[in-house]
Amino acid sequence: MKIKVLGCSNSWTPRFTSCYLINENILMDCGCDAYKAYFKEGKKLSDIKLFLITHFHADHIYGLNVFLTRIHRLGNQGEKPTIVGPKGIQAMCERVFETCNLIKHDFSDEINFVEAEDGKNFKFDNITITPVKLDHGDVVDFGYNFEENGKRFGYTGDTTLVPALYDFVKKCDICIMNISRTKTNPKHLGIDTFKQLTTKYPTKKLLAAHCDEDVYNLPLLQDKRAEEGMIIEL
Ligand SMILES: [Zn+2]
Ligand SMILES: [Zn+2]
Repeated sequence: MKIKVLGCSNSWTPRFTSCYLINENILMDCGCDAYKAYFKEGKKLSDIKLFLITHFHADHIYGLNVFLTRIHRLGNQGEKPTIVGPKGIQAMCERVFETCNLIKHDFSDEINFVEAEDGKNFKFDNITITPVKLDHGDVVDFGYNFEENGKRFGYTGDTTLVPALYDFVKKCDICIMNISRTKTNPKHLGIDTFKQLTTKYPTKKLLAAHCDEDVYNLPLLQDKRAEEGMIIEL
C-alpha cells in the first residue's frame, strides 16, 4: 500500500488541507484547496475511482467540487466512481456542487454513493477498508482502517478521544492522527492524547496532522508529523 500525503492541514495554516492519495486511485478526504495539490501529481480527475470522506467540514470535503464539476460537464470517463462518507453523503456532495456552481444536480446516475457504517468493511482492489465511527463533537467523523497484504494503515479524521480510538490505533502499523490542539477538547485531539498514545503503543508509528501552528511548531513533533509530499509505503 502506498499513501501520498497531498495535504494534511486544517484551514488555519498556509498549507493544503486534508487529502491523501492511496495506491493511485483512492482519495481520502478532499479539503477545499486540496485539488491544487492533486493537480501537482499530474493526474487526471477521472483517475480516482474511490473517494473516502471522514466528515462534512470544508477542510475535508469541499475540494470534491472540482471532481463533481468535471463529472457534471463531461460525464463519467470510464468506470463509475464511488464516494463513501457519513450518512447523507449524496445530499452533502450535491450541496457542495450547488454551493460552488449555483446549479442543482442529482448525481445518482454518475456516482455510487455509499453511507459508511461503523465496523462494516468492504474491499477495493486488494485493500480491506473499515470505517470506524469516532467523535468530532456535533459532527459525525469516520476514521478509516486499511489492510493490504497484512500491512495496516489508518487515518482518524477529526476526532476527540473516545474508547473506539484505542482499538482504531491498535489495528494500525502506521496511523495518521489529527492532533489539532495542545489539549484534547470535546471536538479535537491534543498533544496530551498524542503523548499518551505514543507511550501506550510504542510499536506503532503515529504521525500527527491537522495541527494548529503552535502545535505544528512544537519540537516534540518535528519527526512525528505527517507532511505534504510524504510517501508512506507499507
Ligand atoms: Zn478538519
Ligand atoms: Zn472537522
